[in-house]
Amino acid sequence: MTAASLDKLSVETLSGIGPALATKLKKLGLYSLQDLLFHLPLRYIDRTQITPIGGIQPMTEVVIEGEVRASDVVFGRRRSLVCRLQDHSGVATIRFFHFNRAQQERLKPGTKLRCFGEVRRGKSGVELYHPEYQYLDTPNPTELEETLTPIYPATEGITQTRIRDFCGQALKRLNDHPVAELLPADISGGLEHQLSYSLVDALHLLHNPPPGTALNLLAEGEHPAQQRLAAEELIAHNLSLLRLRKKVQLQQAPLLTEDKGARNKFLEQLAFDLTGAQQKVAAEINADISTAVPMLRLVQGDVGSGKTVVAAMAAVQAIANGKQAALMAPTEILADQHRINFEQWLRPLGIRVAFLTGKVKGKAREMQLLAIADGTAQMVIGTHALFQETVEFHDLGLSIIDEQHRFGVHQRLALRNKGFSPEGPRLNGPAPHQLIMTATPIPRTLAMSAYADLDCSVIDELPPGRTPVETVVLSNLRRNDIIERVRLSCTQGRQAYWVCTLIEESDVLEAQAAEVTASELQLMLPGLKIGLIHGRLKPREKLEMMEAFKSGEINLLVATTVIEVGVDVPNASLMIIENAERLGLSQLHQLRGRVGRGSQNSHCVLLYSPPISGNGSARLKIMRETTDGFKIAEKDLELRGPGEVLGTRQTGDMQLHIADLQRDAHMLPEIKNLAENLLLNHADTVDGLIDRWLGHSEQYAQA
Ligand code: ADP
Ligand code: MG
Repeated sequence: MTAASLDKLSVETLSGIGPALATKLKKLGLYSLQDLLFHLPLRYIDRTQITPIGGIQPMTEVVIEGEVRASDVVFGRRRSLVCRLQDHSGVATIRFFHFNRAQQERLKPGTKLRCFGEVRRGKSGVELYHPEYQYLDTPNPTELEETLTPIYPATEGITQTRIRDFCGQALKRLNDHPVAELLPADISGGLEHQLSYSLVDALHLLHNPPPGTALNLLAEGEHPAQQRLAAEELIAHNLSLLRLRKKVQLQQAPLLTEDKGARNKFLEQLAFDLTGAQQKVAAEINADISTAVPMLRLVQGDVGSGKTVVAAMAAVQAIANGKQAALMAPTEILADQHRINFEQWLRPLGIRVAFLTGKVKGKAREMQLLAIADGTAQMVIGTHALFQETVEFHDLGLSIIDEQHRFGVHQRLALRNKGFSPEGPRLNGPAPHQLIMTATPIPRTLAMSAYADLDCSVIDELPPGRTPVETVVLSNLRRNDIIERVRLSCTQGRQAYWVCTLIEESDVLEAQAAEVTASELQLMLPGLKIGLIHGRLKPREKLEMMEAFKSGEINLLVATTVIEVGVDVPNASLMIIENAERLGLSQLHQLRGRVGRGSQNSHCVLLYSPPISGNGSARLKIMRETTDGFKIAEKDLELRGPGEVLGTRQTGDMQLHIADLQRDAHMLPEIKNLAENLLLNHADTVDGLIDRWLGHSEQYAQA
């Protein structure tokens, strides 16, 4: 009989864990012994060796031994007991703010001590505050630790000592109960270094690092044992997306053959010619949708590169083949803007556009729903209202998601499922082709892991005649000069945005701040027509305000970041962003992309309130130096991490335990290759890997 593997053994099989504790552990996601083994220390402390006092460095944790040379109560801001501890190499101060008389007497000169604690730089050289200590002049002083001491993620109601004990017990079980090695031996590819450790060796090392293990590597997450697990985790994530992709691609999609007539008619009535990059991407899409394998394609392009028109071409192709196309946008404003564009582009082709957002209600909603269900609406535009249960498509052939990083994988899937028949999912039913457009560029390696299920096209060229936005960074103290500049610009017939930002993500406060700013600006600029737009307005009010701005009725639009995405008013050529230091680079880039859409020179003023942090000032400097969204995305990744670059929803899908998309970015291209290789040549390991890292089974044997 083979022993049950550790993922099948409940934590309750350990001594010291009963039902109550098991429940607590479950709350932490720790069900099985394997879960405990994958519950890795956050950091380690080194109590295996004694450091000579002369060699200790601030900001490190050390064990020192020496003799107390002086011991005094010092009366400063706080009373403290200060001892001087000396060994052959130097002297350090140890300081206690809480102490009793007995302690004070025992710590007299001549006493020999071993102390453990963090070294700080104090008034009189190096100091340890409240170190753990023990007397060495006792009969049997305790031995030094033999391995580095792991510190586990804080766990409510469970002490470090206990969790260390449980992990230790689980490790012992590893000797006779296996944790399956799921990565085949022959696949290391370019990851020989990471995969040099076996899973079991890596787990042993990480829970029990032997003395001499490079603590600095461990602290950075760059020890090969950590990298071994990180690589496996990333492979598992990649596989889950690839498996999804494979599943989708087993479905049948409608063949959308190219209709040259419709395409030419569409192109002829555009006011411009497509750029080379747009043509290239349109051709890639065409190649995808003219086969029966569902397209899964991501279109990346910088702000203003003209993604919408490429999407519209795909929609025309779907409709020419008798199918419906749907376009989903993340906000009402953006959805409405798409509606206006698509109506203008598609009406000449006799295509009917339906519009559905949460705000379309009553009779109007019923009419839209009916037109979508009976197929009279060939093009459907809306917000996430489109994937509510009540929406039934007649025959959806193409779904387009704009500004994708605001939607997660699951929302993407929901719209994809709309291709199934209205009676419910039909397994072999037609699946719509899917096109996804990002709002801002995503660094290549990040896209590779977060969108491993998608093919990627890049529109890497802006329409001609655009002049890059000139950006200046100014202190708030110059606000009055800026207001004067706005006055000048607007009296010359230009239009401007004034963007208010708040730290708190609160609609209410943000709206209030914008209102205050608008009235203040109106007082100072009595000659200008000033509009105000924020998230608290009714959708219709928002749209009317945007229309008034677009038509030039309003000179200056005071706005919150609701205008961040997609808004297109070519005559607006000046943007002021207040407290710009609070925003991420991608968001600033997105906002700035609202200007520079016409042919005149555009300017963006980033106002900050001093004092500004080093990081904040570095961010603003990048904005001043470049308008290239791909470069900005790389920097944003460096400065703020993947969560901010991908958006929170998307990261919700990418909960990583051990890997770190930024730290481990260098592995990602190879991870992608390995995952593809596994799916192709070692399909039997795929489910296990995904389950280990992304699944949470709750069934465990008690054996
Ligand atoms: P984004 O890629 O940011 O979504 P849009 O699709 O909104 O950009 O396009 C930005 C603007 O550029 C729109 O006003 C659009 O009509 C215009 N545009 C798109 N393609 C071209 C082109 N080839 N030449 C000139 N203008 C274009
Ligand atoms: Mg857009």
